Amino acid sequence: MLMPAAPVRRSLLLNASLEPLCVVSMHRAVLLVLTGKATVLEADDRLLHSERTSLPVPLVLCLTRYVHVPMRRAVPPTRRTVLLRDGHRCAYCSGPADTVDHVLPRSRGGRHEWTNVVAACSRCNNRKSNHLLHEIGWELSFTPRAPRGAAALLSATVRADPSWSPYLADGAAA
Ligand SMILES: [Zn+2]
Repeated sequence: MLMPAAPVRRSLLLNASLEPLCVVSMHRAVLLVLTGKATVLEADDRLLHSERTSLPVPLVLCLTRYVHVPMRRAVPPTRRTVLLRDGHRCAYCSGPADTVDHVLPRSRGGRHEWTNVVAACSRCNNRKSNHLLHEIGWELSFTPRAPRGAAALLSATVRADPSWSPYLADGAAA
């Protein structure tokens, strides 16, 4: 059994087309490489050792055969995923956000869906309460949308490792 030489990390798995597919555990990444199902694109400078072999710690790997993914799994808006989508910035004052605000308040028929939720600081969230934006003279500087592609992938899983960024060019932080 290969023992990790570093704290447990995860690997970004790309399809053979180099599109990000998912995030896998280091254990799974190593198995994919050892069974020839994936090749390592980015590796740590540390090595995983076993009795018979050693392997660079895989940070980004790519499947050797293309896997058809029929439909992107939809990521539901949760506190965690909304904060990630909005970069932990309050949609109203740009300060650090730790709550989720429904732009059209739920008490006034607003739905819990990506286009109606934004990250907000608790101060703004409290001040906005069950008002509509125009009632208190506030406006949004962007249109809330469901995250796509790499952003959806990441929000569903874990925070990106810096080594992944060249492969997540479609704006994981957007
Ligand atoms: Zn705020």
